[in-house]
Amino acid sequence: MKNQKPILNVAVPTPQRQLFDYVIPDEFIKSDSTELFIPGCRVLIPFGNRNLIGLIVKISQSTDFDLKKLKPIKALIDKEPLVSKILFDFFIWSANYYHHPIGEALLKVFPGNLRKGLPLPKTTTRCWKIDKSYSSDNTKSVKQLDLLRLLNSVDHKTDEFLKACFGRSTISALAKKGLITEFQKSYTKEKVSFPKALKQNPKLLNDEQATVLSKLSIEKFSCSLIDGVTGSGKTEIYLQFAELILKNQRQVFILVPEINLVQQMEAQFSNRFDLEVLTFHSNMTENQRLLNWTKAKNGEAHIIVGTRSSVFVPAFNLGLIIIDEEHDQSYKQQEGFRYSARDLAIQRALDDSIPVLLGSATPSLETIQNCIKNKYQHLFIKKRIGLSQPPKWNFIDLKNQAISNGISEFAETKIKETISNGKQALIFINRRGYAPALFCNSCGWVMDCANCDSRLTLHKAKQKLICHHCEFTTNVPLKCLACDRDSLVPVGMGTERIEEYLKNIFPTIPVFRVDRDSSKKKDFMENLHRKVNGAEPCIIIGTQMMTKGHDFKNITLVLALDTDTELFHPDFKNQERLGQLLTQVAGRGGRGQFPGEIYLQTYNSDHPLLEKLVKDNYASFLEDVSSEREVTLMPPFRHLALIRADSTHSDKVINFLKHVRSITNSIQPQNRSINYIGPLPSMLEKRAGRYRYLFQIRTKNRSQMHLLLKKLTHQMGTIKIPSSVRWSVDVDPVEL
Ligand code: ADP
Ligand code: ZN
Ligand code: ZN
Repeated sequence: MKNQKPILNVAVPTPQRQLFDYVIPDEFIKSDSTELFIPGCRVLIPFGNRNLIGLIVKISQSTDFDLKKLKPIKALIDKEPLVSKILFDFFIWSANYYHHPIGEALLKVFPGNLRKGLPLPKTTTRCWKIDKSYSSDNTKSVKQLDLLRLLNSVDHKTDEFLKACFGRSTISALAKKGLITEFQKSYTKEKVSFPKALKQNPKLLNDEQATVLSKLSIEKFSCSLIDGVTGSGKTEIYLQFAELILKNQRQVFILVPEINLVQQMEAQFSNRFDLEVLTFHSNMTENQRLLNWTKAKNGEAHIIVGTRSSVFVPAFNLGLIIIDEEHDQSYKQQEGFRYSARDLAIQRALDDSIPVLLGSATPSLETIQNCIKNKYQHLFIKKRIGLSQPPKWNFIDLKNQAISNGISEFAETKIKETISNGKQALIFINRRGYAPALFCNSCGWVMDCANCDSRLTLHKAKQKLICHHCEFTTNVPLKCLACDRDSLVPVGMGTERIEEYLKNIFPTIPVFRVDRDSSKKKDFMENLHRKVNGAEPCIIIGTQMMTKGHDFKNITLVLALDTDTELFHPDFKNQERLGQLLTQVAGRGGRGQFPGEIYLQTYNSDHPLLEKLVKDNYASFLEDVSSEREVTLMPPFRHLALIRADSTHSDKVINFLKHVRSITNSIQPQNRSINYIGPLPSMLEKRAGRYRYLFQIRTKNRSQMHLLLKKLTHQMGTIKIPSSVRWSVDVDPVEL
């Protein structure tokens, strides 16, 4: 007996941290179709004076509000939930874990077109099959015969596939002759199928690779880290482990840290498997995103390669998640819903009882710590593939070197030597643009960003000064704006300047610049790979973009121009990140038959951490970083969360966070396992015209943290906050 209407608890895209209660309109009650209201379905609801799309999260029998005042929903959009219950619960868990407003978080994990209320697309595929039996009399064209022969041996092939292999005109010629017909094939849910053949044979694993593979189990949840040096063939293990999963009729997700690594990884998987490989990244249309999303959900896509947001893509029957370069901080979303895709992927795998595989040559400290605690399986590959040797590490001590345009005399000689030996050199400098500052030689004035605590970077090609924090762009002044003299000079080095200098010294040698500016061109990475793999001597200048994933065989010299800036940067993860960057960039060298070496230019060759890296290895370097974090009670030895706030007025944001601190204190006074720091300014105090501060909470146990944050965010919902102040929670931050 239903004597009371059920209440729908709906997530609405607002910054409020609550669900909103709605009633079901009478016409639904009368037709007795209330069972259509299931968590995970979208509803159209009146909200203030607008109509919004919300998601049903729960159905309750009672409400804290006046029942008579609750509004009915306007429409039920979906007949069935958008995603499975397990996945929907995972979404809710994610919002709760990061203490992000539930409506904002939940709606953000769905494709934009679903947020707008659009229906799921139909996913039919255009296919061709043989119509009549044919003979060689039907055509003289070799291409046409090949196509016919192929279609004769299978049931059908997709239009896309045939077009790629034989070309549009071959297909239409045969269609005209009535030898083949097209049809629309709609996939049903049973379709996660594995074809009989691989497109490419797996490589014969070496002993270390084989041992790692043998330790991976497809059965249930487990988290394994492949801690394998650069060039040790981790990708081949991904491929062979994925094969086992795919053969079991299950889907595989591969996460990569950056959009320009998606294509490479996608190529690896689609070259190997005759299966549907789809990608997700920020550079796709909303229609494409929704189509791929739907195909993944229906099991029509077998392999998904994508950047961090793909952790929320639904699957029909997921069997494995791979997280390549697990240490990479790009996995952490740095604004809005600040989730870590790596950490969420592990939770998702746990929910689904499937394995998750992390890979890195430079694992993060927190992952190593989880291995030490036996939460993750720690698997090693210590040798590179084949005869390739690990790179040799050296210092260039800048204290006794002449230096010109950021390149020491010794470094220049090394580059010359490399080129004349017919080899390639990689110059690493983690700063794009021409120079990080424009400076007046007469009065010392520097051109700052009007909105941030930072200098404007000179971009010579664009003839602009650009702020790398807020994108503020302005023309390059001809004279000093302070003393009106003609004495402005660029100071410091960026990729453009190094490029200009090296092109001057080596006019006949190709010099490639790889940074965010240069790589915007379509197919930039593909072209680069083709040219560099052409094996001619060349020089590549790159930012951190060049440190990841690239497998070039002829680089023998790697030169890190600026080690010192990052070494003394005060953020808690910076030294760890420096070690990772340098080890990764070193790993781009010597991947073929010729050994590689890396040179670090520095004024601090006696710095204990750098010495560890150069004379020992990354693991030993990380041990030192680890001890330091332990002593300073920082992650992973404490759980850290930040209340971040910003405002156009620094006093308002500071007062707000002082208030937050006093609320926190009243909920839970500090003790030996819980402590508070701040308000403190963020590393970049002013950015885009807003003053940024934070309040740190550190606890010994995770449960203490969550309990506290739950109470705190609840109470913050009840206090009055100045309208200029924005605030958010950052759980497990990677920067301050
Ligand atoms: P990592 O990701 O560990 O840096 P890669 O996966 O890029 O290393 O592998 C480096 C190179 O070694 C690639 O060109 C890859 O094709 C090759 N490779 C991997 N495993 C084998 C193997 N078992 N036999 C021969 N070559 C291999
Ligand atoms: Zn001046
Ligand atoms: Zn700025």
